[in-house]
Amino acid sequence: MFVSEDLAVNSQGHLTIGGADTVELAEKYGTPLYVMDEDLIRKNLRRFHDSMNKYYNGMGEVHFASKAFSCMEMCRIVASEGDGLDAVSIGELYTAVKAGFPMEKVGFHGNNKTDAELRYCLEVGVGHIIVDNIPELRRLEAIAKDMGKKPLIMFRIKPGIDAHTHKAVLTGQIDSKFGFALETGEAFEAVKEAVSCENVEFYGVHCHIGSQIFDIEPFEAAAKTMLGFIAKVKNELGYEIKGLNLGGGFGIKYLTEHDPKPFEEFIERVSAVVREQCAQLGIAQPRMYIEPGRSIVGPAGITLYTVGARKVIPDIRTYISIDGGMPDNPRYILYESEYEAVVANKAGEPRDEKVTIAGRCCESGDLIGENMALQHAESGDILAVLATGAYNFSMAMTYNRLQRPAVVFVRDGESRIGVKRESLDDIIRNDV
Ligand SMILES: *Cc1c(COP(=O)(O)O)cnc(C)c1O
Repeated sequence: MFVSEDLAVNSQGHLTIGGADTVELAEKYGTPLYVMDEDLIRKNLRRFHDSMNKYYNGMGEVHFASKAFSCMEMCRIVASEGDGLDAVSIGELYTAVKAGFPMEKVGFHGNNKTDAELRYCLEVGVGHIIVDNIPELRRLEAIAKDMGKKPLIMFRIKPGIDAHTHKAVLTGQIDSKFGFALETGEAFEAVKEAVSCENVEFYGVHCHIGSQIFDIEPFEAAAKTMLGFIAKVKNELGYEIKGLNLGGGFGIKYLTEHDPKPFEEFIERVSAVVREQCAQLGIAQPRMYIEPGRSIVGPAGITLYTVGARKVIPDIRTYISIDGGMPDNPRYILYESEYEAVVANKAGEPRDEKVTIAGRCCESGDLIGENMALQHAESGDILAVLATGAYNFSMAMTYNRLQRPAVVFVRDGESRIGVKRESLDDIIRNDV
């Protein structure tokens, strides 16, 4: 009935998430409110790591991509499942450090890391640094020497794969700001330099071809290309690359008609390609890493709002105004991303109206979506926007000096605060 498996309707006709009544959550914590289903997050992590164990002989690691949803409680959940993290800024890293996350299971990314970030990585002992370019390699080499450390590094590679997704989240092609190009020989030259560095240890190669990808073929193609490169490095430089990181990007269901392949199938088919290629190319099976973000948290989250004005423009459209919008969910204004929504207190009724859901910012583009099927919504109703667990809280901003919403985790019908709602004093905290 709904895009996520953990949503249902209770006997009062209210939408529930992970067994908790969303109308009660809205009453208890206020709106707008992010609600995350902890059990579904854990289940999604397990689906990935169990299939890595099953199809890749336990030689795989799942690193949750922090940028999809980062807060200390999320770090604790990931740690308790035994999985790793991918972090892309000192802020995401600091969050993990403060949550007591095991640093050896962290990969640090970024196409323009600062010296302060590189130093912090070495100070806290991250597992890998995924190096993006030669100037960064040289800076890291100097910093590592200065600090008397020898970090493990991977290289971010652009394998030249078209992943058939939105251009803003396409990252594997030559014309991308991320990483070293394969086709031009740039990556090979860089590896030559890296293997001769004294203060870093060249450990692996990494690629991330994009996000919200439904097809398995681009992942198989990327794996093949990367293994070809690993073989070339072995044959021509006599250097054995031990780690292969294939990034994230597994698509999820935002709309009823979306039909992503089960995660297990991705892992099964990609593992098979890796094993076959290794045998064929005569190289040792690398340790395999994946970095799912959206697929872990996206389906596990919803956002609750209170409906304000209902504005009918005859023969044109009906606007339903909510007490949030682009500051808590910038994905429509960025990508025209589509969502499904439900009036939480009328969840059992048919969604037989077509409406535009409008946020409260001073921007005409501040919409959650247009032409959305919805129950008849009136002032005071609670609106739930579904599958907002990824790239909503993490992208939230304070435009118009709106306070960022709280994040609540639910488990077994019980709820608890994960991130407090911002106060008015938070809004002026750094003002002088
Ligand atoms: C964004 C990103 C991810 C996560 O992507 P999802 O589509 O959320 O799975 C993983 N790795 C890297 C390097 C990324 O940039």
